[in-house]
Amino acid sequence: MKKVKNLIIGAGVSGLTFANYCGDNYLICEKENEVGGYCRTIQRSGYVWDYAGHFFHFKTEEFKNKFLSKMKKKDIIYNEKCTKILYKNRLIDFPFQTNIHQLDKEEFIDCLYDLFTKTEKKEYSNFLEMLYGKFGKSIVEKFLKPYNEKLYAVDLSKLDVNAMGRFFPYADKEAIIKNMKNKSVNSYNNTFFYPKKGAGSFIKILYDNLDKNKILLNTSINSIDLKNKTAILSDGNIIVYENLINTIPLNKFLELLGGYKKLINEMSYNKVLVFNLGFDKPSPLCKKEHWLYIPDKKDNYYRVGFYNNILKEEKLSMYIEIGFSKNDIINKRIIDKQFKLTLSNLEKDGIINKKTKLVDYMSIVMDPAYVHINTITLKKIEKLKEEFKLNNIYTIGRYGAWTYNSMEDSMISAKELAENLL
Ligand SMILES: Cc1cc2nc3c(=O)[nH]c(=O)nc-3n(C[C@H](O)[C@H](O)[C@H](O)COP(=O)(O)OP(=O)(O)OC[C@H]3O[C@@H](n4cnc5c(N)ncnc54)[C@H](O)[C@@H]3O)c2cc1C
Repeated sequence: MKKVKNLIIGAGVSGLTFANYCGDNYLICEKENEVGGYCRTIQRSGYVWDYAGHFFHFKTEEFKNKFLSKMKKKDIIYNEKCTKILYKNRLIDFPFQTNIHQLDKEEFIDCLYDLFTKTEKKEYSNFLEMLYGKFGKSIVEKFLKPYNEKLYAVDLSKLDVNAMGRFFPYADKEAIIKNMKNKSVNSYNNTFFYPKKGAGSFIKILYDNLDKNKILLNTSINSIDLKNKTAILSDGNIIVYENLINTIPLNKFLELLGGYKKLINEMSYNKVLVFNLGFDKPSPLCKKEHWLYIPDKKDNYYRVGFYNNILKEEKLSMYIEIGFSKNDIINKRIIDKQFKLTLSNLEKDGIINKKTKLVDYMSIVMDPAYVHINTITLKKIEKLKEEFKLNNIYTIGRYGAWTYNSMEDSMISAKELAENLL
């Protein structure tokens, strides 16, 4: 039996950040054979692929410097975001609601008319109702509803009004009209950094600061005894901990603890199937775009990204994101079917053509991917977290805390917790 002050479950960005700030007395258990969690990079056949595009839009100087000071300038690309919506065979600027003037005249008039005649409420009871109230029928039904239904794979009236927090590009009538003449920049992620060797390079910096003897790879936590503060690892070892820091998805952590079936069933989220695709030549359509939003339900993907445009390289290198609901099974048969659909849709959409040859590809399933924010469930989770604290259990990170945030947000809260526990 080994004793440790901080036992950390998971070596993603949250677990690694916690370990960077908690002093020397820690042990990380990671079930995979490498660190990084969802923020990992794979280099294959000359392509650099993340587990779906992972970009850092730093809001704090501290974390920006933590990474940038350890890398050579030439190894980092700083981009002003170039994102579009593929709408009826045309590329229009994102977000849809502030760029309706780029639509055909009739559709533009519909959007404008509905924007001015919509019935606003003081308070909305759910996300979909809020969209109709703030933007009117046409903007909602042409983009906001189909796109978000594809992404979240859920009935949008089941989501909280604030389901996307600061990640939702709100705009009032005035801003929409002003944007027709003067393009405004009001997005949370208008610029981003990207290391030439992929987002995983930032993770390596967090990892390099740590004592490798205190990171057990290929090791999961099999069970936890809250009363005796012990955890049994997959290699059979028993660890006695003072603090347990969980970063694995909360639903899976509750399964480990046992006895939370009702809450686990209630917790709603989507899964995302990602394809990384490497082709032999540039895209005939997308020469500079970093990623595209795709609201058309005839397309299986909701978002596609272009690593080669981000890295300023020639050969088309893409990530494709496809939303599934919590209960969908994503097995080999489904992956193969989605793969074929993806290639034929990319051709239909003009992103590739008959001459574009696929060189290499891979698929990844992100489960969970986006937590569905719902106030009733979140209240129960918050109460549970308070109870956990009484047992020195802290559940952090986007999935551990069961929230919608960025990697930097997770790093900030992991650091704060580590410093508090010191
Ligand atoms: C499609 C998509 C795109 C995204 N893009 C961005 C972006 O551009 N920018 C951004 O800031 N954020 C982005 N995110 C969010 C980002 O992925 C997460 O915020 C972040 O990676 C979460 O890190 P984490 O360490 O909290 O969790 P994870 O990365 O999930 O780490 C948890 C770790 O625990 C391990 N583990 C699981 N079970 C066990 C077990 N039983 N025992 C031991 N170890 C276990 C896992 O293997 C993993 O390494 C995106 C998310 C998705 C789904």
